[in-house]
Amino acid sequence: MDWDVVIIGSGVGGGCIAHSLADTGARILILERGERLPREPQNWDPEAVFVENRYRTAETWYDGAGNPFRPGQFYYVGGHTKVYGTAMFRFRERDFDGIEHAEGATVPWPIRYAELEPWYAQAERVFGVHGKAGDDPTEPARSTPFPHPPIPHEPIIGEVFQRMQSRGLHPAHMPAAIDLHPGGTCIRCGTCDAFPCKIGAKGDAETRLIDPSLKYPNVKLQTGSLVTRLLTDERGKRIVAVEVTRGGETQTISARLFVLSAGAINSAAVLLRSADSKNPKGVANSSGMVGRYYMNHNCTAILAVTPWRVNQTRYPKTLTLNDYYFGGDASARPLGNLQLLGKIEEPMLRGALPRAPKWSRSWLARHIVDWYVMSEDLAQVDSSVTPRSDGAIQLNWKRSNLRAHQRWVELAKRLLKDVGFPIVLSKPFGTDTPSHQCGTARFGTDPGTSVLDPHCRAWDHENLFVVDASFFPSSAALNPALTVAAQALRVGAHLKSRLDQF
Ligand SMILES: Cc1cc2nc3c(=O)[nH]c(=O)nc-3n(C[C@H](O)[C@H](O)[C@H](O)COP(=O)(O)OP(=O)(O)OC[C@H]3O[C@@H](n4cnc5c(N)ncnc54)[C@H](O)[C@@H]3O)c2cc1C
Repeated sequence: MDWDVVIIGSGVGGGCIAHSLADTGARILILERGERLPREPQNWDPEAVFVENRYRTAETWYDGAGNPFRPGQFYYVGGHTKVYGTAMFRFRERDFDGIEHAEGATVPWPIRYAELEPWYAQAERVFGVHGKAGDDPTEPARSTPFPHPPIPHEPIIGEVFQRMQSRGLHPAHMPAAIDLHPGGTCIRCGTCDAFPCKIGAKGDAETRLIDPSLKYPNVKLQTGSLVTRLLTDERGKRIVAVEVTRGGETQTISARLFVLSAGAINSAAVLLRSADSKNPKGVANSSGMVGRYYMNHNCTAILAVTPWRVNQTRYPKTLTLNDYYFGGDASARPLGNLQLLGKIEEPMLRGALPRAPKWSRSWLARHIVDWYVMSEDLAQVDSSVTPRSDGAIQLNWKRSNLRAHQRWVELAKRLLKDVGFPIVLSKPFGTDTPSHQCGTARFGTDPGTSVLDPHCRAWDHENLFVVDASFFPSSAALNPALTVAAQALRVGAHLKSRLDQF
């Protein structure tokens, strides 16, 4: 059977496109390499999730020096949102304009915040975001209130919030896509960040986008289907089919329109692997920019110890601080965002503290409040994704802006000491966790320096759109999922209005 639309990947980008087009009657096939993530007791078991890595891919990737590693990648219906931390931030207006950082400047986006604002509002509705406007001075303009009220702080977090305010800071309620309100399904299980939700109470791409789309008889999901290549016509201009590996067999599936939403790293790999005689550098790659400008965030965990008090918080992710997002220390350059992490449990500390006795890790886990310090990673042309001849991915992440990140970590530690935590420990996140991957097929206005046009259409191919975190020309210093969703909904509406033209 021929399809009208083939969507590759069922995460945020692919899910939003399916959601936008589901009611058009077009025959839509979603191809997903993973399966449904099972709802099972291990979902909430830190031993299974963090020690056994039950849900992480078993793939081997290689870093820039050729060292193998097992990446923090999760292939399921719903993509990375099955394990995401539900933080749903809008990027700030100035993030779209280009910003001067300590180690370089970001490029302006081809669309400004105002263009994306209505789609941010829609994305918040679709994902069911909780939040409160008005506390954060960096917050961008909004046309609508948050769909749900903020999640109330639990006692320790509420006290920190007040102490920060008393120091003249502007802590804000963290925007979160979780069904935690009267009548909602969240039971404050105590896990969330990096854990799958056993009861479907996370606003993730499976529950909010894919399942509602599948209610339409014209939308089909085919799991266990790894897309390996895009095939072009005799001119090399139109995509005519995808090659899919499923159950050890190869399928070729044709359609009129193709939307590649495999995530920033895998989408770049698919495009590069699809090189043919008409597109020798890879599909969509006449600019040579596919797989370049790979970004992730610079992230560090801070464990703020409350030695005399057990932290009984069940849902900690209610506070964020952006006072230093655009600067504010002596450097006057952007530092980043501070937010709460999900509750860290003893098994999650084993990697960082392997020699400490178990009782001490357990004590620490009970007496810490867990923070996430995030700074922007600046786009660099030789930070790259390259498919190797053996089929593996080489991820050559050229990190940047690390001095600003280090300054932010030190400042955040001082700040947390000042608001009541006498001991403050920190641990950078590993380079094997590309959680906030983006930037490998940037959009722009110049086909010579970008891969996609402002609606994420490949400059080189009239019927190919790449709709996932690949399009980011800069990474900002806030969690990416809501921005991926907003642009994907914008692209979805664009496609809906011209489906008959493909
Ligand atoms: C542990 C963790 C915590 C996070 N927490 C947050 C958070 O709190 N807030 C936030 O904003 N962001 C968070 N993120 C990031 C967020 O999940 C991503 O930004 C978002 O999911 C990106 O959407 P996407 O469409 O680009 O890719 P994804 O959502 O990853 O979707 C890609 C899909 O494509 C599939 N796929 C890949 N290759 C192929 C192929 N060749 N063929 C077929 N299918 C394929 C994948 O299985 C997947 O389903 C987190 C990520 C992780 C890993």
